[in-house]
Amino acid sequence: MKTILVKSILNKKKKRDNWFLDDYTLNPYEGCSMNCQYCYIRGSKYGENMAETLSVKLNGAEVLDRQLAFRAKKDQYGIIALASATDPYLRAEEKYRLTRQFLETILNHRFPVLMITKSEMILRDLDLLKEIDRVAVHAADLRGKFTRGAILSFSMSTLDPAIASALEPGAPLPQQRLETMQKCKEAGMFVGVNCIPVLPFISDSEEQLTKMIRAAKEHGADYILIGGLTLFGSQPSDSKVLYRKFLERKFPHLIPDYKKLYRIYPYPPQEYHAALAVLATRLCREIGIRNGILDVSLP
Ligand code: SF4
Repeated sequence: MKTILVKSILNKKKKRDNWFLDDYTLNPYEGCSMNCQYCYIRGSKYGENMAETLSVKLNGAEVLDRQLAFRAKKDQYGIIALASATDPYLRAEEKYRLTRQFLETILNHRFPVLMITKSEMILRDLDLLKEIDRVAVHAADLRGKFTRGAILSFSMSTLDPAIASALEPGAPLPQQRLETMQKCKEAGMFVGVNCIPVLPFISDSEEQLTKMIRAAKEHGADYILIGGLTLFGSQPSDSKVLYRKFLERKFPHLIPDYKKLYRIYPYPPQEYHAALAVLATRLCREIGIRNGILDVSLP
């Protein structure tokens, strides 16, 4: 594992994310040892096995402290997504505890946080997350509209353990993620599931989505987000190539359908997304769960 020193660590987004509401992103690691085959960070930079090329941003907390002090002074509060291009609770976190240091720093400066993870290691940091939830200051335009300072979002692309093991080889199984979320909910946290990406013809049917949404609700989810799959590239470690290998192994009969769906762009056509959004809205309404983090989309 490589350790690196960074000059900057907090990324300000040009525009707030419509779904996750984050204004900032923050990544303790470069690369991700969970090795999801569909991951958008895939490519030659990290290679096929991203565990081998993982880098630890050793001085990250110190740099973050400076950057957050500057932003807080200017009242530039906003939700920080931790993380957007890695999982904040990789195995390396047991040794380096960078995410924990980041959360301490975030708490000191009273920024709100969005945790995006697949790991049960988040339970280790519930003490800090509870405090952040209590004291965080939101961006001026969100004050009064959203009161939770910590959002804990668990990523899921399928409920099927065999498919998840093949596609997300370094991640805990979906049932474990649900159980972890339930523990966070029982600890009083605001939690949800982001079914992003759902897998075309595999986990995007009405039946499969119903199962995922029901499972999320049964495990205490406050909200659900559902989004499609993007596949890039033609090199050996690109997501499109790795995903095709997964299809060849597990779902060879679906290859022609995928060819059609990803014929022109790295994502399915607009009609696919529109139909998925309509279906997600209807199912969330029927099952009785919020289809988004903010209250505005309550059924
Ligand atoms: S956990 Fe997230 S960042 Fe890591 S490989 Fe999977 S999709 Fe990519």
